[in-house]
Amino acid sequence: MRIDRAILCIVIVQLLFSGLLAQEFDETERMMADLTNAFGPPGYEDEVAEVFIRYIRPLVDEIRRDGMGNVIAVKHGAESAPKLMLTAHMDEVGFMVKSIDKDGFLRYQPLGGWWSQVLLSQTVRIRTRKNGDVQGIFGSKPPHLLSDQERAEVIGHDEIFIDIGASSAEDARQRFGVMPGDYIVPDVDFAKLNQSKVYKARSWDDRVGLAVMVEVLKRLEGRDLPNNLYLVGTVQEEPWLRGIEPAANAVDPDIAIALEIGVTGDTPGIEEHEAQGELGGGPQVFFFDRSLIPDRRFRDFIWDVGSEMNMALQYTFLPGGGVDGAVVQRANDGAPVVCIGVPTRYIHSHNNLIHRDDFDEMVTLVTELVLRIDRDRLGQLLPPVP
Ligand SMILES: [Zn+2]
Repeated sequence: MRIDRAILCIVIVQLLFSGLLAQEFDETERMMADLTNAFGPPGYEDEVAEVFIRYIRPLVDEIRRDGMGNVIAVKHGAESAPKLMLTAHMDEVGFMVKSIDKDGFLRYQPLGGWWSQVLLSQTVRIRTRKNGDVQGIFGSKPPHLLSDQERAEVIGHDEIFIDIGASSAEDARQRFGVMPGDYIVPDVDFAKLNQSKVYKARSWDDRVGLAVMVEVLKRLEGRDLPNNLYLVGTVQEEPWLRGIEPAANAVDPDIAIALEIGVTGDTPGIEEHEAQGELGGGPQVFFFDRSLIPDRRFRDFIWDVGSEMNMALQYTFLPGGGVDGAVVQRANDGAPVVCIGVPTRYIHSHNNLIHRDDFDEMVTLVTELVLRIDRDRLGQLLPPVP
């Protein structure tokens, strides 16, 4: 009897603990976790493509991958309807093993834009060809050894190295199976920050765009479309928009929306003239970024639709960066293109944050736009012929 009670107590305690420790995810959060946890630095997007295709397959009419790896899916509307393209990139910022020092430390090539300062002492995952994933740490000098001058300086990528616990180059290759050319991502998984509506992942840029497409497709299930909807997941966006080109040429859209992250200016040290928008303030319509001045009529139409629906919308100006939409705009004989982003804090670092409300609003906005863009609307958005 006593033993039974003891066992019962242990079971109850275990249940309580597992409830506290395990995060409870709804269906959308599970999809977000699958997408953001998938390993996908530029040039290594197959795992992301597999997850994306798994989620959209039941919701579209056709799916293919082009020679570079872009996923191109179609949900058909009427035959003569215009081609509307939604695009988001599958890759995330990452690294590649460049060389192995004689002492077994790895040197790396950044793939995409990294500020070296955010790397020190962070953990990474290295995908080897034979031994699966190996964990590594960006090593740094202890403060005890730093001179005053060194403390004030930013340490460059050339001085940073990855420690995998190997004792020599031979050990790194033989025991760990690490080779130059192996791909690397931050070792961080999706989580709800303190069980709140703020969600953490290493790869919101741009898995959030893919997640928006999945949710938009769910909301469009059983609806007749006034357009032929192309959903494109691109490769190699981070190293200067390399992947989108063949997809933009092949789809040749009449009009397109790039789904991206937006950069917030709501953390200490950022002034409004530097970055606009806050977490939880609604989707961000791009007015400018270094690669793209979005189509003016299309941009204003989106703003009007948002106002009509009483949605909170924000805007963003980005002096740096680049988006796939810039390439779509100039492909073939050109198309009106806009970019809309889910506000994100700390992009291009190990931990990016988004707010669930912004995500849901973005899905609502994009679904509404898909339902409204027909032949007549396209005519109003194209440059007029006087
Ligand atoms: Zn990016």
